[in-house]
Amino acid sequence: MTDYSGKLIVISGPAGSGKGTVVKELLALDDRYALSVSATTRGVRPTEKHGREYYFISREEFESRLAAGRMLEYNEYCDQLYGTPLDEMEIALKNGKYFILEIEVNGASRVRELYPEALLIMITPPDYDTLEARLRGRGTETEDIIQKRLATARDEIARLGMFDYILINEEGKFHELAETIAEIVDGAPYDERRVINNPDFGKKFFGNK
Ligand code: 5GP
Repeated sequence: MTDYSGKLIVISGPAGSGKGTVVKELLALDDRYALSVSATTRGVRPTEKHGREYYFISREEFESRLAAGRMLEYNEYCDQLYGTPLDEMEIALKNGKYFILEIEVNGASRVRELYPEALLIMITPPDYDTLEARLRGRGTETEDIIQKRLATARDEIARLGMFDYILINEEGKFHELAETIAEIVDGAPYDERRVINNPDFGKKFFGNK
């Protein structure tokens, strides 16, 4: 990847972190940013479209793409498979794009192994209560899935040490957060107050939950 002119940016964070909205803001800031469209076996939500949010494919199709070496990384998350197609990423990086992978924490860890120079950013809500409220507010998931996602979020927050930056997504500050990420990507000095790389954050996040 070092010969490529683009940059690989991983944006991760628990369900309910608002990372999807931040990524949309980032894409609107500058056309150097491009988003990887993952493949998934999960069902399509009413607002989603095949080829835009995801390639919605069957488990058989996913497994055959995997066997053919067409995935950069993949993970099973809450009983569904999600993976990053390799071909789009290579083209984007050759074309100088700042290529964003919006993926969960196991996938981020795998990208770190494969591409140590990738920039890994975790976006998190300020605390667990906010995370739960955001997850329920979406209204698209059953209680069973919400519980699985909350449990997964706990594990994800516990692994924040591998990220280069941990950014707290305060209510309604999507645009500011996208600008912070753009500053980080451009290598500009950043504001310490907005960039928290604090090993105690995980403990504070959960309070006594
Ligand atoms: P959702 O079902 O809410 O769209 O996504 C569930 C989780 O899977 C999110 O954390 C999302 O970032 C992650 N995800 C989406 N695409 C990929 C992918 O290609 N690989 C990995 N490892 N995770 C992904």
